[in-house]
Amino acid sequence: MHDRSGTDVRGDTPCDDFSYGLAVAWLRRFAAVVADRRDELTELDAAIGDADHGVNMDRGMQAVIAKLDDSPAGSSSGLGALFKTVGMTLVSTVGGAAGPLYGTLFLRLGTATGDADELSLAGWTAALDDGVRGVQARGKAEAGDKTMVDALLPAVQALREAEAAQLPLADALARSAAAAATGARATIPLVARKGRASYLGERSAGHQDPGATSSWLLLQAAADACPGAGGA
Ligand code: ADP
Ligand code: MG
Repeated sequence: MHDRSGTDVRGDTPCDDFSYGLAVAWLRRFAAVVADRRDELTELDAAIGDADHGVNMDRGMQAVIAKLDDSPAGSSSGLGALFKTVGMTLVSTVGGAAGPLYGTLFLRLGTATGDADELSLAGWTAALDDGVRGVQARGKAEAGDKTMVDALLPAVQALREAEAAQLPLADALARSAAAAATGARATIPLVARKGRASYLGERSAGHQDPGATSSWLLLQAAADACPGAGGA
């Protein structure tokens, strides 16, 4: 994991591993991006839902940030505890469909990471894979149903490919974010088969799914939290 020998050309950046510090930077960045793009997410939901997705996610992530700010510095008891706190906070504050689904994603990340303080790319890939399986178990959405799953599944696949190619974590995170962006855009022509948007039937086509968009922002925030990443 940490190769502190002088031959490590990448240096000991905070992104050699998926560390506790990276996780906190990720969550803070996601909260800031959701706050910035709250109205945009809500407008996407106005088109095919009930115009609350941005508001829901912003409320949840502000609650997560308040929890982070409340926990004394150095009180880390592993990534699992951090992610479980995030999951429980999202379940109790976001509401709607997204609350239990994002809550499940983070609760599963918490179970997968346990008391680890840092994850290798393989560890992060396995944890996100577990999290997305949890979302699917809870919401019963498959690829192509026009949901957040359409951004999350390609992101996991990109991580697997990056792992097989032995890419550095920062590059893997950038690729998973790019795959999520492509997946979110690809929801535009789809007809929704799950969630509120499915009530619209064919009329849901022609709009980007709000949850797929926030899931892309979640993965983009992880990539952007890495100083070594190649950007969006
Ligand atoms: P609500 O639909 O209850 O108002 P939000 O507006 O916060 O909740 O979230 C809507 C998003 O939730 C959708 O854009 C979609 O991505 C996601 N979603 C809804 N139902 C499901 C499901 N069964 N599985 C996965 N994602 C879903
Ligand atoms: Mg909604």
